[in-house]
Amino acid sequence: MSTFMAASHAEGKGSKPDPVFAIVKAANDAIKEVGQDKVVNATIGAIYDEQEHFATFPTVENHLKQMSAEEIMNYAPIGGLPDFLQAAIDLTFNGNMPENTFAKAVATPGGTGAIRHVFNNYLEPGQKALVPDWCWGNYRNIAEEHMREIDTYMLFDEDKIAFSHTVTGRIMSRFKKNNNLVIIFNTPAHNPTGHSMTEGDWTQVIDFMKEYAQDTEKRITILLDIAYIDFAGEPEETRKFFRLFHNLPQNILIAIAYSMSKSFFIYGMRSGALIGLSSSKEVVEELSQVNTGSNRGVWSNGTRSAQKLLVDVWQNPELKASIDKERAFYRELMAKRADIFMTEAKEAGLKTFPYHSGFFITIPAPNPSEALKKLAEDHIFAVSFYKGIRFAICGIPTHKVPGVAQKIKNAL
Ligand code: PLP
Repeated sequence: MSTFMAASHAEGKGSKPDPVFAIVKAANDAIKEVGQDKVVNATIGAIYDEQEHFATFPTVENHLKQMSAEEIMNYAPIGGLPDFLQAAIDLTFNGNMPENTFAKAVATPGGTGAIRHVFNNYLEPGQKALVPDWCWGNYRNIAEEHMREIDTYMLFDEDKIAFSHTVTGRIMSRFKKNNNLVIIFNTPAHNPTGHSMTEGDWTQVIDFMKEYAQDTEKRITILLDIAYIDFAGEPEETRKFFRLFHNLPQNILIAIAYSMSKSFFIYGMRSGALIGLSSSKEVVEELSQVNTGSNRGVWSNGTRSAQKLLVDVWQNPELKASIDKERAFYRELMAKRADIFMTEAKEAGLKTFPYHSGFFITIPAPNPSEALKKLAEDHIFAVSFYKGIRFAICGIPTHKVPGVAQKIKNAL
């Protein structure tokens, strides 16, 4: 064993430098050296305002400040405040709860906690979760931390959506070996491309899953990572696809990783929920029971103040309207920044993956590190991602966007 004191399974854990933090540091060094106005820092995964300050919703800030000490500091129930669980369900579906289904939720520390629970409680040890090849890198860490692995399906084939057939192929080979399937769809406003699945894409996926579910030995969990849903468009529009999950067989579970991080700009307060949706009451009751049990064994309870915030938003239409307005402002601001970038990319002949909305735009690049070195000479910093460059449009003030697409094209 080549560890000092750590057990063998911990060997090597945390040893790979985080590629995002290294480039964030390079961007910050450049800011110190040449000044903020000359640097385009597209490495950040949070929204920054037009003055390049961390964006917050004033209404959220004020509401948190007036909370009682007890609401901030006391424990929450292990599974979450009951009203929080109902609020998370209601705000997620926003009137689009599919017919003939049951929903139950468990509080988790952000979407991360919900993903953790699904990997751990819906896969056997050693099994693999199926994730898109372009995806949030942390899925792998979460799987490995829990002695699970990941396997990928192809999201894009050239520019076209490829997943319908690659998902099919992967599932066929997977199901030959074992009966449990956990597959992640990160939509709408996928990280890192900003792509959103259409209702047509969903219909294909659902039909396909239903066919496989005819074998009642199979247990299919569709894990919907909706971390960016509130920046994908109007809430009524972005949630319509939930209605498609009606009358699913009992052996297809829809597990939703709900996150407050982006929706309320409270990334560090660690709050979210795992929401289970099923045609079977027993399945969602089991989800609630099993994952509340996991809460107790992993992090005990969640952040009470964040849960209370959601309860208050859900119960108080004025508070909700005020936050919705502040969120819409930033959603539109980001859309404006992205619009400039995408228009100029087209003019410059710079290829990007299909971007609909969200925090990031991704440019395919066979050798992203080389291109990023050249861009750094122009004081432009973005993240190298698989075979591409992830450009965080969320952090760039609008006035710095013009010209960047052409510079990326030149660097490539
Ligand atoms: N899913 C995706 C695609 C993300 O990008 C993130 C965070 O960046 C998360 C889930 C989890 O966020 P949190 O745990 O803060 O809710």
